[in-house]
Amino acid sequence: MSIVTFERPLPQSLSPSRLQDFQACPRRFQHASIDRIPQPSTRATAMGRFVHYILENIFSLPAPERLAERTSDFLDLATTAILTEDVRTDLGLTDSQQESFIREGDKIAKNYFSMEDATTRKVEGIEQRLNVEINGVPLVGILDRLDREEDNSLTIVDYKTGRAPNPNFLSSVFANTELYAAMCEEALKETPQRIRLFYVGAGEIVERPVTPVVVEARRKAAATAWSNITTYYADGHFPARPSANACRFCAYKSLCRDAGVAVPN
Ligand code: SF4
Repeated sequence: MSIVTFERPLPQSLSPSRLQDFQACPRRFQHASIDRIPQPSTRATAMGRFVHYILENIFSLPAPERLAERTSDFLDLATTAILTEDVRTDLGLTDSQQESFIREGDKIAKNYFSMEDATTRKVEGIEQRLNVEINGVPLVGILDRLDREEDNSLTIVDYKTGRAPNPNFLSSVFANTELYAAMCEEALKETPQRIRLFYVGAGEIVERPVTPVVVEARRKAAATAWSNITTYYADGHFPARPSANACRFCAYKSLCRDAGVAVPN
């Protein structure tokens, strides 16, 4: 095991997805959050950002105007904001491939309207930034949407552009948003009562109630992860934990293989 002193400091705050990186594989967290080695965009990540951008703009319209036909109003803006030169290079997009990417993004965004009537939603926050400390863990994150229901409860809404999840793995699917529920509790002094995930590509909604037990479990998991992060940082060594799941879409496979980590193919 090689011990190093890191040139860069620990991040001042962590997002739920960075914490999830750490929980999946500490070495990945090191490369992404301490060494800050850029992760090239993939088609899936770029598409996710493209569709999120359109839906964010839809929800900045007055409620009666949140209609499927309005998505096309935001395609040029989304293209400029998301398909930057760097992203186009990462994806190796030709002009015709870019056109097909934009058409697909528009189709996915329009699909959202088959799942819910956006004109009736009472939205309390869009791309809402939360910056809190939970059990000594500095956390920062941005919620896609926070809705106020008719019974006055809050719902965390998250858009997903990937495939709908396998029902056997829902715990890991909800881990991020359940930590967001704990962050809302801290920041807003109100706990959202449910999490609603819109798989806009697949046209499926997956919903789960937020319970005090779940919130407490996510608080504890974040504290444990942060404690381990500070220990590994002080030790100068974040262990690699290769597994088929963690490594499949990891941008650091070649770095790990060069370092002698047995990364699955
Ligand atoms: S390739 Fe696998 S072992 Fe290496 S950082 Fe990524 S997830 Fe961890």
